[in-house]
Amino acid sequence: MKIRVLGAGFAGVRAALDLDRLLGRQGVDISIINKDPYHELTTEIYRPAAGRDVRVLAVPLKDIFAGTSVAVVQGTVTDIRLRERQVVLDRQRILKFDRLVVALGSEPEYFSIPGLRENSLTLKSLNSAENIRRHIDAMLSQAAALANPADRQPFATVIIAGAGLTGVELAGELADQRPVLARRHGLVPEEIRIITVEAAPDILPGFDDALIEAATDMLMRKGVSLILGTPLRAVEPGAVVLEDGTRIAARTIIWSGGVRANRLIEKCFTTRNRGRAVVNEYLQSVDDPTVYIIGDAALAINTRTGQPVAPTAQHAVQQGRLAARNIWAELKGRPLRAYRARTIGVLATVGHDVGLAHIGPIKLFGRFPVVVKDLNTWRYILSLGGTRLLLKVLWRNGRLRWARA
Ligand SMILES: Cc1cc2nc3c(=O)[nH]c(=O)nc-3n(C[C@H](O)[C@H](O)[C@H](O)COP(=O)(O)OP(=O)(O)OC[C@H]3O[C@@H](n4cnc5c(N)ncnc54)[C@H](O)[C@@H]3O)c2cc1C
Repeated sequence: MKIRVLGAGFAGVRAALDLDRLLGRQGVDISIINKDPYHELTTEIYRPAAGRDVRVLAVPLKDIFAGTSVAVVQGTVTDIRLRERQVVLDRQRILKFDRLVVALGSEPEYFSIPGLRENSLTLKSLNSAENIRRHIDAMLSQAAALANPADRQPFATVIIAGAGLTGVELAGELADQRPVLARRHGLVPEEIRIITVEAAPDILPGFDDALIEAATDMLMRKGVSLILGTPLRAVEPGAVVLEDGTRIAARTIIWSGGVRANRLIEKCFTTRNRGRAVVNEYLQSVDDPTVYIIGDAALAINTRTGQPVAPTAQHAVQQGRLAARNIWAELKGRPLRAYRARTIGVLATVGHDVGLAHIGPIKLFGRFPVVVKDLNTWRYILSLGGTRLLLKVLWRNGRLRWARA
């Protein structure tokens, strides 16, 4: 029995760990396939994108799966052949499967806005965070080389289009990094402009009103300019054009206005709603019940609201757990369990020192959510590999330097 898990993000890693716990010692061949040798903590990448040094951004897969029966395979999935029960890696290598868990995540959705794809950066992975950091550094260094302030302005302007959680966290982080960036490039912090553009009338569309109000206040206090209720009409090299015709020159344009499922999903499965795979209540593909599709790639439905579940890490982890449990149930002849989405809450930072938390009935604003978010990252790493993994990660990141001395 070969079980392949495609993608080692939040959903895939949880599924593979639970498969190992449930079936690992029963002669089942479990492997996880990922294009990189590490599990990225996507929820943290807005920090390095703004140039901040961060303790943990990625955990090596070999450390997560050390001591388990899960084989880690590095490769890019280029095709899934349902009829042949094959996965193709890097267009050449073929892996057979009996059960498949597809957890290949999402990618930016550009909504056919002219020039957006070609002229913007996005924040979806560690590599893209590094691109943003390098790009901003390069633009600020060009700004510093120009004598005329008017010429400098486009190089020192960052536009973040899309003010969901990602856009808000990035804008807050960049605002707080301004003094560091300005010092590095010999600029005045106020010269570095950060502008958030959002099509909806408020930032954080769909979130609780109190959160929206608090986040708006935090961003404005940090000097972020907000242009709300104004969709992008087009993006040109070095400028955005807003729906009302306003043109803003900016050499850094970051798109954080939406995601769609990984394109491979559309190629291989029945999809709806931005390319997400249609799944039944057990998270099985409607095209093949031996294939489970989870995380951002799946159109899982919240049975309480009848609405698609938001593409978030917390839902991805829950779905990973359920897919593993249902494969175990299938193999043991037990009844499958239906997916019940549980939204634990919202946890976000707006810069280095303040943040927002909405967990159950509790809403917190200010410093405390920043601490809670950091603790949540450590809690997550503990959930992957206990103190053994946490200590390894801490060790790697130099936090235990004193112990080595
Ligand atoms: C900046 C940012 C901040 C966020 N903050 C939060 C937050 O605070 N809270 C929250 O709940 N959610 C947050 N999210 C959303 C969250 O990160 C996603 O919902 C979550 O990562 C989805 O998990 P997943 O396992 O479906 O996909 P991913 O975690 O994206 O994992 C997909 C995996 O598949 C791999 N992969 C992709 N294509 C291939 C291929 N062809 N071959 C092999 N491997 C492949 C990728 O390398 C990756 O490892 C944030 C997202 C971003 C971008």
